[in-house]
Amino acid sequence: MYSREIVDETFRLKAQGWSDQAIAARCGVSVQALRHWRYGTRRGTAAEARRTDRTTYCPQCYPKASIHHEAYAYVLGAYLGDGHISEGRRGVHALSIFYDNRYPQLISYCRAAVEAVFPVKVFLVGRTGCSEIKAYSKHWPCVFPQHGKGHKHSRPIELESWQTEIVNAQPEAFIRGLIHSDGCRVVNRIRRKLPNGDGTHYEYPRYHFTNASTDIIGLLTDTLDLLGIVWKSHVIKNEPRYRDATVVSVSRRDAVARMDSFVGPKY
Ligand SMILES: [Zn+2]
Repeated sequence: MYSREIVDETFRLKAQGWSDQAIAARCGVSVQALRHWRYGTRRGTAAEARRTDRTTYCPQCYPKASIHHEAYAYVLGAYLGDGHISEGRRGVHALSIFYDNRYPQLISYCRAAVEAVFPVKVFLVGRTGCSEIKAYSKHWPCVFPQHGKGHKHSRPIELESWQTEIVNAQPEAFIRGLIHSDGCRVVNRIRRKLPNGDGTHYEYPRYHFTNASTDIIGLLTDTLDLLGIVWKSHVIKNEPRYRDATVVSVSRRDAVARMDSFVGPKY
């Protein structure tokens, strides 16, 4: 006899696109037992098989599903900043988000956020200079409908109304995700002479976000406006590797202080 939790777990993993073999290995049950739970003693009909592909975690496939808003807004920002979705076999998609290896705490944070959005196993894949935070599900294109062919900067990126609602409810988490993946906080140190001739150092922290998609830039600046955070922007010209990217900077002291209250230095 297996507990209800284990049986439920096997249905949940199936709904996320896991193979029966993988589920059996993970849950410590036999493939026969899985199929018995799914189909009873008969072989399942196509309709039954489809039903088990539904998931109570996907807001598109299951209208009553509720997604963790703060985690979702963060992962959406991170995905738009430096992530992509790729299609694998049998409709299973991989969500990949890339974080610089200099920030191990942020990598853990992002990983936990992905798990909070969707209870999937999240893998860490080491890359040169960065880590890929990776998770598989059939439902990533539902959860992030901005998925499409080609680079994000070469196609329109628009949020669906349910996503806009979440971003407007969790604007800080959305900005945090964008800055963690594709932005930075830099500190300029300037030496000034005091009237008595001594020198002193001033520190000017500021935030930068650089992206080649004007739509993604627009999502960031709209959200900054929503919070009343003053920003400036300029386009990087004549630098081929930046593809005419736009840089948004937040440098006014009060605006930086506000950003520090929910983003802060990377660590
Ligand atoms: Zn779905």
